[in-house]
Amino acid sequence: MALEAHYERTIRSEIEFSGVGLHSGAPVKMRLVPAPAGSGIVFRRTDLDNFEIPANGRNVAKVSYATSLMRGSVLISTTEHLLSALIGFGVDNVIVEVDNLEVPILDGSALPYVAAFQEVGLKQQRRKREYLKILKEIEVRDGTKFIGVYPNLEGSSGYGIQYAIDFPAPIGVETFRGDLATGDYVEWIAPARTFGFKEDEAMLRNMGLIRGASDACAIIVSKEGVQNGPLRFEDEFVRHKVLDLIGDLALAGRRIQGRVVAERAGHAMHTALVQRLMRDRSAWELAHGYDEVPDTVENSEPVLGGLQVANA
Ligand SMILES: [Zn+2]
Repeated sequence: MALEAHYERTIRSEIEFSGVGLHSGAPVKMRLVPAPAGSGIVFRRTDLDNFEIPANGRNVAKVSYATSLMRGSVLISTTEHLLSALIGFGVDNVIVEVDNLEVPILDGSALPYVAAFQEVGLKQQRRKREYLKILKEIEVRDGTKFIGVYPNLEGSSGYGIQYAIDFPAPIGVETFRGDLATGDYVEWIAPARTFGFKEDEAMLRNMGLIRGASDACAIIVSKEGVQNGPLRFEDEFVRHKVLDLIGDLALAGRRIQGRVVAERAGHAMHTALVQRLMRDRSAWELAHGYDEVPDTVENSEPVLGGLQVANA
């Protein structure tokens, strides 16, 4: 077996999206533009003289129903689904131009993003990708909410995620376990949509928190069950929480090599973990990633985006 290094990637060509922000209801045009190696993910407000907000833990703003970034007094809201798709698919460098304060919600999942990445393809860049390799555990607890990150077991370099949720009926308890390094993201996580409870709708609308909400961009749940089925997965709710977690942890600036465990967590817990990680320099180091590749080309597996396709 030989070792093949992971290199940074960007998109091969520009991609445009348009829609409305879930929270603001604001119409928004968004354009993803290829970016040079080493630049990371940078939001650019084209309506505000191209003001730039890099997607990192230093710029995390108030976090309630979504994760927002703020630099100076400039906001970009609801970044988590796009960031999740970028990390999950293996896009390291991109400029995200938006002409309003919120990323469009689209269908409430990361599927439109990964479909677009698959369509335009990715370009491998010259710089080796750096990962945030976890060296010691960090745990954040708030009542019954919990999130922790742990070093990988000896010999593993994956990004393991274990998530448990416990919502009122009909959602109840759901658990999910997966590893991003095995290519699970596109098939198992990206299509999972955000969700909301019918009973909370009036209150959230009055508070101005879901001006862009409709049954085209979220699963609506009531005591009677799912209002706009069918679900894309039986356990779509916990899968969406995993999608959010990956997007929020992207604010660490690099993909994680380690294991994350979350129970009843949400954006505030996810971003609290990022901030604890950023503050504790002894908890991680930057490391390169390698895949073992067979010495004979005939046996090599196809590579999809940044993700190695799991053996069938
Ligand atoms: Zn979400």
